Amino acid sequence: MTKSAASHLLPVFARVDLGFERGEGAWLIATNGERYLDFTSGVAVNALGHCHPHLVAALQEQATKLWHMSNLFMSPDGERLAARLCAQSFADFVFFANSGAEAMECAIKVTRRYHAAKGHPERYRIITFEGAFHGRTLGTLAATGSPKYLEGFGPPLDGFDQVALGDLDAVRKAIGPQTAGILIEPLQGEGGVRAAPHAFFKALRQLCDENGLLLVFDEVQTGMGRTGELFAYKRLGVAPDVMSLAKALGGGFPIGACLATAEAASGMTPGSHGSTFGGNPLAVAAANAVLDVMLKPGFFEHVQKMSLLLKQKLAAVVDRYPNVLAEVRGEGLLIGLKAVVPSGDLVAALRDQKLLTVGAGDNVVRFLPPLIVTEAEIDESVQRLDRACAVLASGQLKQAAGK
Ligand SMILES: *Cc1c(COP(=O)(O)O)cnc(C)c1O
Repeated sequence: MTKSAASHLLPVFARVDLGFERGEGAWLIATNGERYLDFTSGVAVNALGHCHPHLVAALQEQATKLWHMSNLFMSPDGERLAARLCAQSFADFVFFANSGAEAMECAIKVTRRYHAAKGHPERYRIITFEGAFHGRTLGTLAATGSPKYLEGFGPPLDGFDQVALGDLDAVRKAIGPQTAGILIEPLQGEGGVRAAPHAFFKALRQLCDENGLLLVFDEVQTGMGRTGELFAYKRLGVAPDVMSLAKALGGGFPIGACLATAEAASGMTPGSHGSTFGGNPLAVAAANAVLDVMLKPGFFEHVQKMSLLLKQKLAAVVDRYPNVLAEVRGEGLLIGLKAVVPSGDLVAALRDQKLLTVGAGDNVVRFLPPLIVTEAEIDESVQRLDRACAVLASGQLKQAAGK
């Protein structure tokens, strides 16, 4: 074997040939000096933009004090972060992990163990929804249920029953003596910014209560302000029993969390779960700093205001280019543009205009600006979208003329 590969990174990502060396708020500066407006936010991670001064200061200070000391000892700052997350939510307990998939693994284990501890180990199955995304570990892949991601990795973990999003009858039929819970994203991110009616979530809550099931929300993408509230479930008027967080929790520093009520967590005892890095002091310092900023008065009002502005302006562009764009969807600053042209072409055309966006399922392009985005930056993004659409539309005309 020669060792001549151009890249030694495992080729599992289709990377764009563009590298960055610096970020400032909503902007990224490429290695060639060009400035890009970043509406990927590292896939809904950099909620406070790049290099937010409060986050930088918190991490720098922590870096001089203590990086890591394991979960063998007390964690005062971890306690504080957990208490703040519980004070802001339905939850009584928090487990810290390092990623979304790990937070979801914990949520699945909590759900299964809850029933086992009550004398029903046969109740381990979880109902999930088509178009879902819960992560890339073997367990969360099985929950995701996408054949494309599961192929070639052996038999998927047993215990997930997938039904169509929004189909209450299918959920009812899927509930059996082995069912432990229902797992759903308040708003599907990777699946294409797909929503279900609020009434559907209320009905799920009721079904869970009637059947002794746990309701689990995957808020890895929707959580931490992305949809205009700290947690998306607050808008639905329905609280879960278990919830996962990750992406924006550390503002760019890897950290995930699984939150649960005391009742839902009642099966989790010393030794039943663990993590070497989970709740590491650096990660906890970053997440506490994120909360400092998000819990200041007016933060979510700003997100909601920018959301309305962006959605209105995007809708006007959709009207101008009906052969390029189909519709605007989403909540807060988790916004999807369903394209008529292939969504990958739109992402590339936007990149040519120095606007970075993220593709999703259902031929959708996600606009995920940092939550601190300004009105001027929203305007700038819409102008760039308009130019990209003009390019794509003229390409269509040329193609039609050539035929
Ligand atoms: C990104 C995501 C995950 C997985 O998070 P990782 O940090 O990539 O493991 C799980 N669920 C949802 C809803 C996500 O958007």
